[in-house]
Amino acid sequence: MRTGLYPGTFDPVTHGHLDIFQRACSLVERLVIGVAINRDKGPLFTLDERVEMIEANCNGIAKAAGVEIVVHPFENLLIHCAEEVGASVIIRGLRAVADFEYEYQMVGMNRALSDTIETVFLMADTEYQPIASKLVKEIARLGGDISKFVPPDVEECVRQKFA
Ligand code: ADP
Repeated sequence: MRTGLYPGTFDPVTHGHLDIFQRACSLVERLVIGVAINRDKGPLFTLDERVEMIEANCNGIAKAAGVEIVVHPFENLLIHCAEEVGASVIIRGLRAVADFEYEYQMVGMNRALSDTIETVFLMADTEYQPIASKLVKEIARLGGDISKFVPPDVEECVRQKFA
């Protein structure tokens, strides 16, 4: 059974992430969504809130795809997390050029740490490609409409944070 690990901060989960969850399900039988605690990034949502929002939105995807999705918080090294959950692939979403430089370095350094885990990049549907959690928060903070970028329950949680 092939397990994939899709790591991120998911602060909060967006339609871009959900699209990648769905695409990843066609590559693996078990998908572990690794939620990085990421204290340095100063997330808007607590770890529990981020996990809850992901869980609320990935059950339907898991059922439709017939894939087991597990939401797994982690604070250790990505490669160690992958080994811990038995993942043979790391899945990353790739947006435009901006993501490339960072991802390129990550793959190189992770490969030096473990040569048995491959990284696979997926691109979201064109409609969802420009979405970034950071911008969703910025738009919401300034009173803009984020309904095109996140599912309704997430929109409500973001609104409450800025209320
Ligand atoms: P960020 O890197 O913006 O802080 P995350 O850490 O939550 O966001 O992102 C987790 C993963 O999801 C990364 O691989 C990131 O490139 C990917 N991702 C985020 N938004 C999108 C999107 N709109 N389309 C494709 N991939 C995305």
